[in-house]
Amino acid sequence: MLFDGKLMSGAFRPLVTLKWSNGYLIVLRLMIGLLLVLLIVLFWLLRQNERDEQRLKLIADVLWLEQSINFHLEGTAENLRQLSNELPEEENKQALLYLRGGHLLKNNPDILQIVWVNEAGSIRESVPTDGLFRLEGEGNAEEDRNMDMARKLGKSVFTDTYSTPDGAQFEIYSPIFDNGRYRGALIGVVSLNALLRNSVPWWFVEKYQVRILDDEGKVLASRSRLNGADTTIDYAIPLDPPGFGIQIRVDAYRSHSNSTQNTLTAAVIVLAAAVLFSLQVMRRHIQRRIDAEQAHRSEHLFRKAMEDSLMVGMRARDLNGKVTYVNSAFCQMLGFGEEELLGAHLPLPYWAPEEMERTRQIYDIVIAGEAPRKSIEVRLMRKDGKRIDVLVYEAPLIDADGQHTGWMASFVDVTARRQAEELARQQQEKLQATSRLVTMGELASTLAHELNQPLAAIASYTTGCLNRLESGRFAMEEMKGVLVKLGVQTQRAGRIIRRIHDFVRKSEPRLSPCNLIDVVEDSIGLIEPATKLAHVRIEREYLIDPPTLMGDAVMIEQVLLNLMRNALEAMSMEPIPLEKKRLTVRIDQARDQVRISIVDRGTGIPREIQDKLFTPFFSTKPDGMGMGLNICRSIIEFHGGRLWIEDNPEGGAILTISLPITQP
Ligand code: ADP
Repeated sequence: MLFDGKLMSGAFRPLVTLKWSNGYLIVLRLMIGLLLVLLIVLFWLLRQNERDEQRLKLIADVLWLEQSINFHLEGTAENLRQLSNELPEEENKQALLYLRGGHLLKNNPDILQIVWVNEAGSIRESVPTDGLFRLEGEGNAEEDRNMDMARKLGKSVFTDTYSTPDGAQFEIYSPIFDNGRYRGALIGVVSLNALLRNSVPWWFVEKYQVRILDDEGKVLASRSRLNGADTTIDYAIPLDPPGFGIQIRVDAYRSHSNSTQNTLTAAVIVLAAAVLFSLQVMRRHIQRRIDAEQAHRSEHLFRKAMEDSLMVGMRARDLNGKVTYVNSAFCQMLGFGEEELLGAHLPLPYWAPEEMERTRQIYDIVIAGEAPRKSIEVRLMRKDGKRIDVLVYEAPLIDADGQHTGWMASFVDVTARRQAEELARQQQEKLQATSRLVTMGELASTLAHELNQPLAAIASYTTGCLNRLESGRFAMEEMKGVLVKLGVQTQRAGRIIRRIHDFVRKSEPRLSPCNLIDVVEDSIGLIEPATKLAHVRIEREYLIDPPTLMGDAVMIEQVLLNLMRNALEAMSMEPIPLEKKRLTVRIDQARDQVRISIVDRGTGIPREIQDKLFTPFFSTKPDGMGMGLNICRSIIEFHGGRLWIEDNPEGGAILTISLPITQP
């Protein structure tokens, strides 16, 4: 993942901290809790208010009902009184009773019957005639008492209520006086149920349940809706008449507005609970977000620290080659600022002009997705113009969705390494050249001696020729023969000088086609004077026809000369019989390698020191430098070959070099 500039600059701060969000959520919760409490209090107050209002209304309604019933009963009693007044004066009492009584019954359905009893309590007439009065017959104590009361008071008297199969009833006794003489009474039988039916209007029944209770609370009559709903508040007041502890009790039905209010309250509570729940969910969500941000931030800081500590330069490019990311090591490596590199297009500012074509080719390969897995070495240009050598490793950049979005490259600065290698190479070359001079110095006396021979021969041939010329006695043929010999000796001397010159000439190592036989013979030519001096014979075992190789002839010659010199010295260390003093130069082939072995019959090389021979400055000789074999090995490895030691079964050592046969 790439970080944008904000992240890169370290200004990456969490948007929400845990402390802040927790505090915020707690305040929010408190506010919602407070709101909920206030709402509940408000609803409660409203409800109380409504209840109070309802109660007042109920009381007013009950009082109105009680008055209405009173008024009705008083009216009924008044009607009976009028009839009982008219009755003694009327001739046809029966007809009057039926007429007026009938009217009364019709207008007051709560009056079940009107009974006319004489002063002894016997029924004289009744309307209607059937459904006879309950206290029928004379000598009924209760009837007597009621009649007596009415007579004494001279006005209508209401009796106790009593139960019948048709419901509770009471009676109104209205005394009959004829010119002051007591003549019995008119009794109106009133049904409480019918009274309620008659007196309580429909709208009252819609709102209230109305009941008439006795002094023990037993229901005597009631009027209510068919589907009796829940009641809330009630109110009772005595019903007088008829009196005697009877009371009228009214219960208010639960109103619609009540249930609406309840529903609203419940809805508010549910909503508040839902809000609190969602706050909780939100808190958890924020918590998770903060955790994720925390992890992200830690990872970013970790990556940043890692990137900053890296010495490896990192650079990302999108699929169009535009630079999208660079790390600080990359910027330092090239001396450019991040802002100069981000968004840069081709050719990139750090491409060296002289390497432009090659860098462009490498770029095309990478963008085509054909970048090699191993590194590519390129030379880049720093902002100050200095060139640096870098190893580049390219890898595809894949995003979180698995999409290939570009290329990430790491850059390792190998300039110092390359410079060190170059320095080492130059030193190695110098060492090799020095070593050659040293070898030559060692061989100088023998070579001088060797050179002396043709020169001496040339001198004597020249002297002979001059003498003949001065004497004037010479044959042309003889002179020609001498001059040919002189030429041969000159060539011989020239060959020695050329070999010396070739050998010590300072030149860059250069692989070119070289004839192996010539190389071997030149080496032998240089060592031969020394071998003669040491009475060592040189044997040539050329088992193959040596091919032409790609190599540096002088360097291979240096190796062979070194090996032959060591062999010669090994055979000169101890007294060895003359017939054993042989130095064999063998050339053969193994697979695709040509091998040249230098076989001696000298002291041999003990096993324990064989491994040390190639380390620099290892020597067993008092005046030895110990660099010879080390230089030999590096030269052979430079040619892609090997150098190794074997014991000679005949005594002594065999040092072999192998060189790959590469056709020029
Ligand atoms: P130097 O000849 O200056 O000692 P070299 O690297 O050429 O350095 O040889 C290292 C040592 O290897 C020699 O000192 C010698 O002991 C041993 N050595 C090399 N060639 C032979 C050989 N043909 N026989 C025995 N010892 C050898």
